[in-house]
Amino acid sequence: MTIKIEKKITGFKVISAEEKAKQQAQAVEEAKNALERVHEDMERPEFLMGSTYKIKTPMSEHALYITINDIVLNLGTEHEQRHPYEIFINSKNMDHFQWVVALTRVISAVFRKGGDITFMVEELKAVFDPKGGYFKKGGKFMPSLVAEIGEAIETHMKMIGLLESEGLDEHQQKLIAEKRAQYDAAKNGGKSANDAKSGDFPPDAQLCGKCNVKAAILMDGCYTCLNCGDSKCG
Ligand SMILES: [Zn+2]
Repeated sequence: MTIKIEKKITGFKVISAEEKAKQQAQAVEEAKNALERVHEDMERPEFLMGSTYKIKTPMSEHALYITINDIVLNLGTEHEQRHPYEIFINSKNMDHFQWVVALTRVISAVFRKGGDITFMVEELKAVFDPKGGYFKKGGKFMPSLVAEIGEAIETHMKMIGLLESEGLDEHQQKLIAEKRAQYDAAKNGGKSANDAKSGDFPPDAQLCGKCNVKAAILMDGCYTCLNCGDSKCG
């Protein structure tokens, strides 16, 4: 673009790199502030996107259905983001009804406060039932019903990209493969005990303290988890 200077030049200034960086940072900050975010005075939109998670526990013959509805922020822009707005829990089992309703109202209120709401996942997952938890299909230990609700919220937050799904890195994958091979060699003369269903963990695996799955095997005097790669070796 060419600008024709018609008036007399009375002064000039060279913008330093530092000043330029400051201006850019300011522009980024302004753009950020212009983004839509959840706050208390937000009116509930007519339409929310929802997902329902079914939970089956050995504590009750009836399943629990957890529905989380999201508000979509900055729709149609590159900053489009779903943010949980409310949670409902339904079940034929009315045993825990009043606590479940109270919990869903409090969680929904936290959702609507806005800001970082991901902390709730760890809070809920750390609740232990004094009667002892239970094992789910696949060998995962669930310390309480509240923890199970926390896990459903975590799954949801991962699905909408609010929480990162922690995949195993190359090093962990390698470690797990090595330990598994060692284990199979020791126990079954090199053949995998469950070739047909390779997703299964060995039947004598111990409960892993990190991921709560019965997948930790003892090799060379130390435990390695075949699910999350947690290891006390070395
Ligand atoms: Zn583990």
